[in-house]
Amino acid sequence: MVILALPIVIGVVAYLAWRNRAVRGCRWRANVAGDKGKLRMYRCAACGAEAFTARKGPPEQCMRHLGNGGL
Ligand SMILES: [Zn+2]
Repeated sequence: MVILALPIVIGVVAYLAWRNRAVRGCRWRANVAGDKGKLRMYRCAACGAEAFTARKGPPEQCMRHLGNGGL
């Protein structure tokens, strides 16, 4: 039983680890068409979240955690 269950447990743990990394590692793409003045619009290619930032570079984290798909 243990031998049968072990691969399943490893698989679940690996899946969860992969999912967490996928959520954290958002792939932000600049969306020039969505810029509002000095605010730059970024869209996450991983989860589809949209975010605005006035700083240089993409947002540090996924905005999906903050609500339903960004601001
Ligand atoms: Zn994302």
